[in-house]
Amino acid sequence: MKEITCKLLVIGAGPGGYVCAIRAAQLGIDTVIVEMAKAGGTCLNVGCIPSKAIIHTADDYAHAVAMAAGRNPMGIRVDSPGIDFMRTMAWKDGITGRLSMGVVNLLKKAGVKAVVGRAHFRDGKTVEVETETGSQVVRAENIVVATGSAPVELPMLPFGGNIISSTEALSLAQLPKSLAVVGAGYIGLELGIAFAKLGAKVTIVEAQERILPLYDAALTQPVAKRLAALGVEVRLGTRVKNLSGGGDALIVEDANGEETKLGAEKILVTVGRTPVTEGWGREELELDMEGRFIRIDDQCRTSMRGIYAIGDVTGEPMLAHRAMAQGDMVAEIVAGRRRSWDKRAIPAVCFTDPEIVSVGLSPDEARTAGHEIKVGQFPFAANGRAMTLASEDGFVRVVARADNHLVLGIQAVGAGISELSATFALAVEMGTRLEDVAGTIHAHPTQSEGFAEAAMKALGHALHI
Ligand code: FAD
Ligand code: NAD
Repeated sequence: MKEITCKLLVIGAGPGGYVCAIRAAQLGIDTVIVEMAKAGGTCLNVGCIPSKAIIHTADDYAHAVAMAAGRNPMGIRVDSPGIDFMRTMAWKDGITGRLSMGVVNLLKKAGVKAVVGRAHFRDGKTVEVETETGSQVVRAENIVVATGSAPVELPMLPFGGNIISSTEALSLAQLPKSLAVVGAGYIGLELGIAFAKLGAKVTIVEAQERILPLYDAALTQPVAKRLAALGVEVRLGTRVKNLSGGGDALIVEDANGEETKLGAEKILVTVGRTPVTEGWGREELELDMEGRFIRIDDQCRTSMRGIYAIGDVTGEPMLAHRAMAQGDMVAEIVAGRRRSWDKRAIPAVCFTDPEIVSVGLSPDEARTAGHEIKVGQFPFAANGRAMTLASEDGFVRVVARADNHLVLGIQAVGAGISELSATFALAVEMGTRLEDVAGTIHAHPTQSEGFAEAAMKALGHALHI
């Protein structure tokens, strides 16, 4: 059996693990990373990137269809648009393939030793990796667990056949004629909207009384309106009871206890993701847990000395950029730098139509935290750029402390608003006040002017409403 020793071993090459390994190697640490599937993890291979490729395709196609149907205020004429779905998928695969290879090359360039195979702890300092050519033992001073997450399976809807998770939905060989989506959270809505635009008859079943229950009703209202315009049926307060005898229909129960049958060619289950805490020898360790997740402190240290955990395996929000920021921090800690988790906010973007961005505290969260607040909201209907984009639905909302005007949170909903998440995150992270935002020159005509206007509104002197 081959053996290697190193200062840092990272298990999992998703956004958390690969960033940690690259940064550690940059800092001169002798680093090994183990990955059993593809470099880039969930995000790059079966998550963030392929979903956004499909969403973008669906957007373009829906625009073409709307133009062909004469539903186009700009006067563009298009004749009979079509879609070659195999080509869409090949294009998407090309992107994920290039990015995954890019991660492999970045690791190599940084000097990280990559081992392909499944890692299994023998003890707190030793890991055995099953590789194609046999077992490899890695002894490390420090080990980072970055094993990520997997889709939650409902007991009455086991994955297989026509019951699919996001992974299969992102690699379908054919467009389904009809799609039932269970769960109107991030994935259900992002993919449900995309498949509806591509021509599938989509029905979404959500147990709660609202779509995206994580966000407040005002933020999700433009998305609900768009779902209706796209002909997506949304059944709120509805739960799946079972699968019908033939396996091609769901039996669902609404809030009044009424049962109906919902037939669909494919059934996409998107009711959350669960941390991967099994299959890598956790039983050989003594790691404290926090519910389903590995418990970590503000330096991503677990309850065992020398073992860190980062990314989805450590808790919510399960987002790629949180995993990356943790990975970067842990690499620096292992290199002897003084770091701890001191982020004010983690931006969240839902790539629905329109897109939703949230950074920091919502008005309700700020009040619950005991703040007296000022709130300013500016609608895109009053923004010139939004009008020229023919996308006037949505708004920017700024939440600030009433006493000193410190910006506590920013939420927005609108077409293409994901790109404003950076300016929102910077504003919260840098501790700006309403006056800083209002006093910054925002280029005209851009949707970002809505941000300055929302701050002015909170100060009582918006210019354009
Ligand atoms: P993962 O990316 O899950 O990586 C973990 C890696 O560990 C995997 O490659 C796995 O093979 C490997 N591994 C596990 N066990 C072992 C073992 N024993 N030995 C060796 N290797 C092992 N987040 C966003 O921020 N923005 C988005 O737009 C977004 N869109 C998404 C869309 C979809 C459809 C999905 C499913 C997720 C999306 N996410 C998005 C979430 C994002 O993908 C995750 O938050 C992110 O991938 C977490 O990174 P990670 O490094 O913790 O784990
Ligand atoms: P989610 O937690 O976002 O949403 C799950 C939804 O399913 C909720 O609305 C919940 O009420 C509903 N639900 C749960 N059980 C149900 C049942 N039995 N019947 C009907 N509805 C039920 O989960 P997800 O959409 O699977 O996404 C998982 C995670 O992946 C997200 O939390 C997020 O961290 C990450 N993600 C992020 C992005 C992004 O950043 N744009 C995109 C996709 C995924």
